[in-house]
Amino acid sequence: MEPLLEVKDLKKYFPVANNAPFKKSTQSVKAVDGVNFNVYPGETLGVVGESGCGKSTMARLVNQLIKPTDGVVNFKKENLIGMDSNTLRSTRKKIQMIFQDPYASLDPRIKVEELIAEPLAIHKVGNKESRRARVEELLEIVGLNKRFADRYPHEFSGGQRQRINIARALTLNPELIICDEPVSALDVSVQAQVINLLKKLQDEFNLTYIFISHDLNVVRYMCDRIAVMYLGKIVEVGTYEEIYSNPQHPYTKALFSAVPKESPFEDKERVILKGTVPSPLNPPSGCSFHERCPVAIDMCQSQEPEVVTASNKHQASCHLVN
Ligand code: SF4
Ligand code: MG
Repeated sequence: MEPLLEVKDLKKYFPVANNAPFKKSTQSVKAVDGVNFNVYPGETLGVVGESGCGKSTMARLVNQLIKPTDGVVNFKKENLIGMDSNTLRSTRKKIQMIFQDPYASLDPRIKVEELIAEPLAIHKVGNKESRRARVEELLEIVGLNKRFADRYPHEFSGGQRQRINIARALTLNPELIICDEPVSALDVSVQAQVINLLKKLQDEFNLTYIFISHDLNVVRYMCDRIAVMYLGKIVEVGTYEEIYSNPQHPYTKALFSAVPKESPFEDKERVILKGTVPSPLNPPSGCSFHERCPVAIDMCQSQEPEVVTASNKHQASCHLVN
């Protein structure tokens, strides 16, 4: 199957301000450092890892909300990087985002009607009547009353606001939706409702998702495949079942050892990692995980393991895996 999205060697280095005046900064934070993955039509690719590992930056690079330092982002075989602005604008209709914070992402002074219709206005689709009709239709699709169009965001709960965000993301009939921690800010009871809505919409509208989360239980329920990120890199990728039952990378093993067992007969021990995630300003040499890795060998300090390319198969970037 052809991938819908193909990301190759994607990098984002943020230059770090230098205190010396008139001197160009030579240091950079390697927020995303050579990431490769594919996303196939109709699937949900989960992206997991501790906070600060580059998940959100990666999402914004895919959507071109921030410009990458280097790399390729092919959407339906067209590279978004370096695309002229008109073509990029029309291609980006097909790639939408849902953000973590349903409170911050909706302007409290703007009515729901306008919030949901905004993408139509930006892309000059339809007139006032047709946009209103689309807004009412979308509100019902996400399980809200169409009369909510005339209200303001502050009148709604967190879960309802996230539904409004989802409606807004659907306005232009996207094919790919990047969900960046879409339920992390919600109460647990509401999380399940929003997750179920996302699943239902995926079936109904043939959506493909990139689903960023640090909650492995949510990921288990939502995702077909998983990419595990550590310090700006993907260290392992595979189907949920493979990653859960047969993790290869020592970091993935530690991460997933914290997920409650699926059965009492499961042979799984909790792995506690030493230390904290190193700074991406000064990542360790060799394998960037070596300082914390319980099974590191000599070569790990000096030699970086091969980069993982996320295809359909299960792969891990570690000297001990082949
Ligand atoms: Fe651990 Fe070495 Fe594998 Fe890195 S390459 S995860 S340090 S064993
Ligand atoms: Mg984040």
